[in-house]
Amino acid sequence: MVVIGGGQAGLAAGYHLRRQGLDFVVLDARATPGGAWRHAWDSLHLFSPAAFSSLPGRLMPAQPGEEYPEAGHVVAYLSDYEKRYGLPVRRPVQVTGVHDEGRLLRVETDSGTWHARAVISATGTWWRPFLPAVPGRGDFAGRQLHTVSYRGPQDFAGRRVVVVGGGNSGAQIAADLAYDTELTWVTRRPPRYLADDIDGRALFDAATARRRALDAGRADTAGVASLGDIVAVPPVREARDAGRLKASPMFERLDRDGAVWADGTRAPVDAVIWCTGFRPALSHLAPLGLRGRRGHIATVGTQAADEPRLHLLGYGDWTGPASATLIGVGRPARDAARAVAELLDASR
Ligand code: FAD
Repeated sequence: MVVIGGGQAGLAAGYHLRRQGLDFVVLDARATPGGAWRHAWDSLHLFSPAAFSSLPGRLMPAQPGEEYPEAGHVVAYLSDYEKRYGLPVRRPVQVTGVHDEGRLLRVETDSGTWHARAVISATGTWWRPFLPAVPGRGDFAGRQLHTVSYRGPQDFAGRRVVVVGGGNSGAQIAADLAYDTELTWVTRRPPRYLADDIDGRALFDAATARRRALDAGRADTAGVASLGDIVAVPPVREARDAGRLKASPMFERLDRDGAVWADGTRAPVDAVIWCTGFRPALSHLAPLGLRGRRGHIATVGTQAADEPRLHLLGYGDWTGPASATLIGVGRPARDAARAVAELLDASR
């Protein structure tokens, strides 16, 4: 049994596979624990308090002085989690392809080959940043980067910066840049903040309620989308309340010197930061020929619809409600481990 990816989703899978008494290995491409959290920008804060950001079995301890923990705190928690449960993580091991070999799946990596009766893929999305096809993007002479390469405002002091994106990354990075740069924050529609007194816990509840409604054949509650897009974590709230987080409509195109809006308005720009999201990192599964709409793989729960030996964990709500969150991944991880145990039992 092979788990691909040793971030929070891979570790949650490991916890439940161990409880099922299964023999497995977790292969992770990074040299150190923590998954994507280790690569986040300096000021990133979780959008839920620690106790509501926990993996199965062990509460995340509070971070002294911070209601919403920083990314470094999550890395420490995941490192400890991995050690505490003695999870067999091999790193750095990059999986390059999963192949159907009849009775077994062959997992090819840059450090050898594994043969597995089942595979859980938990490779996240951070590794596949998405940039929209905006006209003129290639003509712009200034700096362009995606969320994944942003570190902090020190790199942009005094610069004219455009932050693109009305989600949590866009709002947090815009808030980060709101004091020391000439900031323009552009969003496709006016930013929608969750009420200040609700946070990531409400997102989790909404995602779960939606999944239950859909499973029971009831009307779509619109889940998280019904609440708003942006959690008003303290730095976002401060910048917004100080009047420094004013969003402009999305520009129509870039030219050599900056952004151009549909009404002909132009703004010279030094840097564009694309906070425009991610896609699931699934290229290692391409040899199985399962990819469907939007690069996703059709699933029933976590199980690939056309390959019962493959489960997908994390990534987004399509692999379980809130499964791409710390608190949400536990339940689908448990379901995946149970399904794998049943499958292996049946095929003995
Ligand atoms: P990752 O953390 O990306 O881990 C995947 C692991 O798989 C990595 O170590 C990677 O190196 C490895 N890998 C990838 N490809 C391969 C391969 N081919 N072979 C071997 N290994 C591979 N969630 C919350 O609960 N609370 C929050 O506040 C929150 N804030 C977020 C803020 C941002 C900006 C983002 C982007 C996400 C946030 N999330 C939050 C969502 C989610 O919790 C994180 O994205 C989390 O990192 C997802 O964990 P994961 O294990 O699915 O993926």
